[in-house]
Amino acid sequence: MSATATTQVFPSFAQVYQGLAGQIGMLREMAPQPTKSDEQRLKGAVDTLIEDTNADEAVWLESCIHCGQCTTACHYFQSMQDAKYAPMRKMDLYRRVYQREISPMRWWHRLVSKPVKLSDFEEAKELIYDSCTECGRCTMVCPMGIDTASLVHHMRSAMVAAELVPPELAALRMEQKHQGTVFGSSPDKLKEMIDTIREQAGVEIPLDKASAEVMVLSSAVDLVANGNGLLATAKIMNHLGVDWTICSDGFESANFGLLSGDMTLWKQQADPIVAAAQRVKAKTVVIAECGHAYPALRWNPMLRSGELPFEMMYMSEFLGKQAKSGKLRLKPLEQRVTFHDPCKTGRRGGAFDEPRAVLKAMDADLVEMPNNKEYNWCCGGGAGIFLLQDATELRDESFKIKIREVNETGAESVVVSCASCRLNFESGRQKNHWDKRVESLVELTAAHLIDDDESAAATSAQGAAQ
Ligand code: SF4
Ligand code: SF4
Repeated sequence: MSATATTQVFPSFAQVYQGLAGQIGMLREMAPQPTKSDEQRLKGAVDTLIEDTNADEAVWLESCIHCGQCTTACHYFQSMQDAKYAPMRKMDLYRRVYQREISPMRWWHRLVSKPVKLSDFEEAKELIYDSCTECGRCTMVCPMGIDTASLVHHMRSAMVAAELVPPELAALRMEQKHQGTVFGSSPDKLKEMIDTIREQAGVEIPLDKASAEVMVLSSAVDLVANGNGLLATAKIMNHLGVDWTICSDGFESANFGLLSGDMTLWKQQADPIVAAAQRVKAKTVVIAECGHAYPALRWNPMLRSGELPFEMMYMSEFLGKQAKSGKLRLKPLEQRVTFHDPCKTGRRGGAFDEPRAVLKAMDADLVEMPNNKEYNWCCGGGAGIFLLQDATELRDESFKIKIREVNETGAESVVVSCASCRLNFESGRQKNHWDKRVESLVELTAAHLIDDDESAAATSAQGAAQ
């Protein structure tokens, strides 16, 4: 039994995964078809790359010395051993556009290279979506400081203009553009879930308070599939006595603008969250366990986050801060565990100590994987790849690296703090009949809260012993 299975109110995560897998399978049929002519799609893609290319991008595109260090750092190359998955190859088309359209030597490149066609973007689709989680491991080892992950992101924006977004992401992008949420989630679903949690688990969730110190975000996965995530969050917040709320006009962590490359949608999703946080005068906004939401909200340059009157914090950061201050006291977790850092919050966000502080507060026997923290291998499911049917083989093969890494620790469980990682781990666990448990940090924390009676008993036992 999972260490977090303390309530029977909602299905287990294994069942959640099965249910979502069915829903994901239907997304391909819901994807919109291209609406523009081929000429317009090509022009849109090229214009997007020209517009996105500033000094940093130009230097990155000019400075590769073909040393190959990024190649061995990429989990897709490592697992497939095919040169086409080398990170530097993912930039070839962007570089060609740059060289022909804006580089100082463009007159020369126009003489010696072929004009870019829409079919070039079609061919690049696998490299830009299926085989890059924008995990940044290649970026970290590049001696020239080339941020391949960011360049891939610009390519995703070009793919949006070329109407070449993979069908699953295209369907969810459309849903979020028109409904503001995904997977059929909505403010009504949020209210329904809050009522269910109150009635069946006896836990209160403050919805739409006029003011609160902490505004908590949820996610579509929590609202339509995994109620345990929101239940765990509520238990912790209430236990800590936090003045908190969820806002029905700004609750969705997931951002399919970021995942697809649609910068307009990215901002459209982030703006209501910022407006809601300002209205309730929140000092802190806590992002649910949703890895890509971290860069979508915290690092979004369009938000000018330095000027925001509140702090954007990931769930693991919030929990870690509470554990470090001694406010979050937890029962012992009597098992050997390892922690998988989500790439977006770890390598690209720097939140390494906080989740470990929470596990330390549980007195867990934490064993690090051979490649950990900055060097942690991506699980292969981030940046929307978990949803892509065409990426199944790449994802499954690269996950075998993760299985080897976790097995080397001898841990019984691997703890994750990102719904995408968790779904990908659950998929890998079921497909490989892997004997490890996959735990969510927030659910594990909620399952180990020391309640008031236990705390009082411990204090009086301590007093009697003195
Ligand atoms: S590590 Fe950097 S310089 Fe070396 S091949 Fe990769 S992108 Fe080029
Ligand atoms: S960002 Fe990650 S997935 Fe993408 S090329 Fe680099 S190492 Fe590979």
